[in-house]
Amino acid sequence: MWRAVEKRDASFDGRFVVAVRTTGIYCRPSCPSRHPKRENVTFYPTPEAAEAVGYRACLRCRPRERDTPQLAWVKKACEHIRRNQVEKITLDDLAAEVGVSATHLQRTFKQVIGLTPRQYQEACRVERLKQRLKQGEPVTKAVYAVGYGSTSWLYKDAKAKLGMTPGAYRRAGEGMKIRYRVVDSPLGRLLVARTSHGVCHLSLGDGDAAQEEALRSEYPAAEITREEGKSDHWTLEVLDYLAGRVTQLGDIPIDVVGTDFQRRVWRELQAIPRGSIRSYEEVARSIGEPTAARAVSRACATNPVSLIIPCHRVVRKSGSLGGYRWGIDRKKRLLESEGVPHD
Ligand SMILES: [Zn+2]
Repeated sequence: MWRAVEKRDASFDGRFVVAVRTTGIYCRPSCPSRHPKRENVTFYPTPEAAEAVGYRACLRCRPRERDTPQLAWVKKACEHIRRNQVEKITLDDLAAEVGVSATHLQRTFKQVIGLTPRQYQEACRVERLKQRLKQGEPVTKAVYAVGYGSTSWLYKDAKAKLGMTPGAYRRAGEGMKIRYRVVDSPLGRLLVARTSHGVCHLSLGDGDAAQEEALRSEYPAAEITREEGKSDHWTLEVLDYLAGRVTQLGDIPIDVVGTDFQRRVWRELQAIPRGSIRSYEEVARSIGEPTAARAVSRACATNPVSLIIPCHRVVRKSGSLGGYRWGIDRKKRLLESEGVPHD
């Protein structure tokens, strides 16, 4: 307790008060007034205890009030950091926000919280990232969503902070060689990307740029090459499927990495036969997670290989189509082509 008083450590505020015999005043441990001498000091667990033996509250640190002015603006700074989830906040911005000097803020914040404002912001961000990963969001997407400008952060110190598995790194595509082509199909532009092991990304869209961007943001660390000219047989097979010349895509190998949950959902989707639909709730039940319909819906939305993993066959319980990463109209047309009645 004496060490806390010597260091004016605000993290001990509220845990005890320090009473000074020579003045008859009691203070918070962090009181900025002149230091009392150790031999004149007595500690009490609460203001009430100090007052019961005749001490009066210090007018400067106001030990009876919950928050000192300092604690109040440190809290304000924390709140500001938590509210600004995406932008990086500089120390100067933060100082202006709470109305104190940057040096004062830096020092006091560290005293009270135990972290600098920058470290605190980083800790909040890592916390949000963990939450998103827990919900099954792809690593790359989550990294950007919480405000990191690039996934290079992943390679630097994510392991220390997140305890990430090699699979998580793999999801960013490190060490992967990806080739892709974009061709015309009955449902618009079709992008099929593949590694030597299988198809790793498949998208439908209207413009190559957006689809290429989706591919690159899914595998930011991969070596990605666009191919032109004669199609590979996997792309041809998908084209045949979209044209109705073949009815199954089951033989195309896929090369994707997901969380355990995503993989369970995706496996389940691959078991839905052509011409059938399931609700998100039904899929959730059949993987033994009856309350996870929303997470199932997210796993569908993050399916990297549409069609091959037929997430278009999952709809809302109400019968309405729900969402589709490549446009609700395409989902509708896919289901129509399979003869599925729907609203
Ligand atoms: Zn005081």
